[in-house]
Amino acid sequence: MSRAYQLGLIGYPVGHSLSPRLHRAALSAAGLQGDYQLLAVAPEDLADFLSRLRLGGASYLGLNVTIPHKQAVIPHMDELSASARKAGAVNTILIREDGLVGYNTDIQGFKAGLDPVEQTPGKRRIGIVVGAGGAARAAILGLAELAFDEIVVAARDRSKTRALVAAFDELDFPAVVRAGDPESLNGLAACVLVNATPLGQSAETTFSVPVWFERALDCLGGDGLFYDLVYAREASGLTPLVEAARKRGLPSIDGTVMLVHQAAAAFEIWTGQKPDISVMREAIHRS
Ligand code: NDP
Repeated sequence: MSRAYQLGLIGYPVGHSLSPRLHRAALSAAGLQGDYQLLAVAPEDLADFLSRLRLGGASYLGLNVTIPHKQAVIPHMDELSASARKAGAVNTILIREDGLVGYNTDIQGFKAGLDPVEQTPGKRRIGIVVGAGGAARAAILGLAELAFDEIVVAARDRSKTRALVAAFDELDFPAVVRAGDPESLNGLAACVLVNATPLGQSAETTFSVPVWFERALDCLGGDGLFYDLVYAREASGLTPLVEAARKRGLPSIDGTVMLVHQAAAAFEIWTGQKPDISVMREAIHRS
């Protein structure tokens, strides 16, 4: 009998996730049996849940991990991939008979959105990352892997910005990572600006683009790329911040590409097969 791929996402809450659509579409396109479920696991239940998983008490073969568990699962892993160690966060778990293996596919997903930039020859490459959470960390690591020379991190909470920058001081890190203030980025000439905050994510009808963000866009000159990690619900790819950047004629993308590629990398870890990316992408916008 062929194997059934029981997959899922643990987080708290998990209700808004698009991951089931992506993975069910990929399973079906690959002709694989299985399902992808959302599992709300409260922080106080995480240790028990993972130990049941290790003992085979839950029938899952692979799980994604989201807020607030990405760091908390680390001590429970039997093995960590190099990317998970580097990121200090796990977003994908492979459940093997001999234990739990933690991976991080967010960095790979992030980099997928920057292929065009990777090929641009030229001057010293500066990236600005707005935000100081897990997505910002993945973006910094991704930019460094793409040979950016300098990465300026600007978040509203200066102590969090400093802590994030200090974490890179402790690594043997190829890029200069320094703290900036979102209110005073003027004068910087960046080729990429990354939004790693949830700004524009909620479905408010009256979202207004903050002035500091407009100033951050100024740093891109006329041809830098704006990369919003927030993903659009519509196939147009228009988040409120992408819309603001496009109004200025700036090349800009939303987080759909990252979402799809981090999911595709997880799918490959679990099944050993490369999924059909276009099928996954289409599944996001299917109502
Ligand atoms: P975290 O909660 O870990 O970090 C969010 C960061 O954004 C913090 O620095 C926070 O500041 C800041 N922030 C929150 N609200 C605002 C605001 N209104 N104005 C300015 N700064 C703000 O979240 P993540 O890093 O995990 O995720 C950030 C975003 O990236 C989310 O929207 C998430 O959906 C998206 N994401 C997309 C992915 C994709 O595949 N496309 C993958 C991962 C994340 P403070 O600490 O002061 O609150």
